[in-house]
Amino acid sequence: MILASTPTIRGKSRIETAYEASTRERWCHSCPHCGEWSAFSWRRLQLDSLTMVCPFCENTYSKREWLSGGGKWIAENPEAPVRGFHVTTIDAPTLSWAELSDEWAEANRRAKSGDYAALKTFINTRLAETWEQPGEVVEGHALEARREIYGEGLPDGVCILTMGVDVQDDRLAYEVVGWGLGFESWGIEYGELWGSPRQGDVWNRLDDILARSWFWRNGKALRISTTAVDTGGHMSTQVYTYCKAREPRRVYAVKGQAGDKLPMTRPGKAGMNARLFMVGVDGIKQDIITWLKRGNHGEGYCHFPIGEGGEIINGYDTAYFDMLTAEKRVLTQNKRGFNVYTWEKPAGRRNEAFDCRVYARAALRIMSNRDDQLLKRQHALAGWVAPVLKGAKKSVPSMAGGKPKTKNSSNRNIQAASRAVTL
Ligand SMILES: [Zn+2]
Repeated sequence: MILASTPTIRGKSRIETAYEASTRERWCHSCPHCGEWSAFSWRRLQLDSLTMVCPFCENTYSKREWLSGGGKWIAENPEAPVRGFHVTTIDAPTLSWAELSDEWAEANRRAKSGDYAALKTFINTRLAETWEQPGEVVEGHALEARREIYGEGLPDGVCILTMGVDVQDDRLAYEVVGWGLGFESWGIEYGELWGSPRQGDVWNRLDDILARSWFWRNGKALRISTTAVDTGGHMSTQVYTYCKAREPRRVYAVKGQAGDKLPMTRPGKAGMNARLFMVGVDGIKQDIITWLKRGNHGEGYCHFPIGEGGEIINGYDTAYFDMLTAEKRVLTQNKRGFNVYTWEKPAGRRNEAFDCRVYARAALRIMSNRDDQLLKRQHALAGWVAPVLKGAKKSVPSMAGGKPKTKNSSNRNIQAASRAVTL
């Protein structure tokens, strides 16, 4: 039985999986100068002179010179029970390196304008390699550059606030995120509370944030609906103790689990009798990366604030965006040889901001497993904001503050606050 295919897309390529498990044989030539055997690599072709570099002696050769050394199949994995061959067009006598080089240049020219079809075809059919769609990496500085001025008060699109808390040995990191229809989101505030979570002080300061209200421009108040606190560090006892006492306020202990699109399991009893939610973080991380890449306001778009004079506000500085984009999705293989994606963080780079965003998303999911419907309902509920907004000119309370500043709205604020708590 013979399997044969172009390699298609990395991570979804069945032939790549089959090839990886095979003897993995490549057609190699011996160097006319040093006699060492090596397979052709596109990366060793010098496009200006159309010559190949020998990886051992670094002499360069034209195609005719290179092929004159004679060739043979060399296996990377000779013990494998199935033979596998990697066949490219690079050694093909019918296609010159000049033609390949022209195709490559044209494909890259089109890729620059966002059309990757020709480049994908070249990589699949000429080089016989899998194609990886570019753009898996989100650039922190690009997100930083597109911060926007929210203006006074909560942005109109925010329906629900959630908070994610990451617990480190010497601090708590938190983010309050505003969610709108279609998972459009607004970064409201990111911060770090320094001090050991073994002591009460940092937890008291987290209480202060939980007690706060945020205000729409019309003076209506919104509080944090659900908070998810990570138990993954060394401080799980402290986290359980804190969360247990605040379950009525929807503050929950969560634990990240590997895996793609794992559903949240039912809450179980953990230490201190607190509820513990298991969160399949890989799926959430992928969602967040997808959302961060969205270019247009609306569904999934992630908004970040900047001050009216361009100053940093609410913790969204360069360090924040560096942490938010620290993790990268990479392709690896699991024990059974199948390609899987895992998340990796370069050594020494911090990623609390990303974790906080993941837990804030998890908090929304804890509120409802059908959170798109939840947000729709909330949108309808928040609809009562809009008519008031039209007439609202004055009475603009600050975005984050303890007390509403206008007296005619104070009663409604109290109602709105209590309503917000019961969401
Ligand atoms: Zn050589």
